[in-house]
Amino acid sequence: MLRSGLLHHVAHGFTGRSEGDLRRGNVAGLAEVGAALCARGLIRTASQVHGREVLVVEGVDPTQLIEADAVLCTAPGVAVAVRVADCVPILVASTAGHGVIAIHAGWRGTAADIVRVGVAALRTALGAPDEPLRAAIGPSIRSCCYEVGDEVIEGVRAISPGDGWLRGRAVDLAEANRLVLAALGIPVEVVGGCTRCGGEWYSHRGGDVERQLGVIRVAS
Ligand SMILES: [Zn+2]
Repeated sequence: MLRSGLLHHVAHGFTGRSEGDLRRGNVAGLAEVGAALCARGLIRTASQVHGREVLVVEGVDPTQLIEADAVLCTAPGVAVAVRVADCVPILVASTAGHGVIAIHAGWRGTAADIVRVGVAALRTALGAPDEPLRAAIGPSIRSCCYEVGDEVIEGVRAISPGDGWLRGRAVDLAEANRLVLAALGIPVEVVGGCTRCGGEWYSHRGGDVERQLGVIRVAS
């Protein structure tokens, strides 16, 4: 499982093929941090719909499946996660680890500004608007494999600074979201490679139906 040094203070990780399929309800293959958390019923996810809703959870209630593309938590020891296969998984934590958010950002979520919405919600939940945050972006489809139409390019252009995320007709959504986080003053590390051509991850465009996970846990 991939991890970021920036988030060394909280349990977190990005899974890949080696950890197995993580569609909703299928978490048997999740290793290390995830396995222990799943066994204790401590991972909370949402029903992802490529929007910008933030689900704020106090704990894990598997009977509630709410449509949202970011899951935020400040309850000690509880983990939250997003499922991805080409879309961008983004994990953000306060420096003390008392608040975390997992964000699912495909192009629609990116264009809907889900990162700014999520970060604002996290700051509100922490009750400490000035507490520094840190972020990690996991494996996703990169510009090498993501040629898109005007709708996507214009959508991303509306929210991401500059054009460092654009290569001809190809968009790098990880870079677009990294630039948004950097503009918010949040240190961010991108880990892993391209899900489409990297071989180590599930890829929706590559025909996979399976999903991998970006998971992060509130400090106990
Ligand atoms: Zn690629």
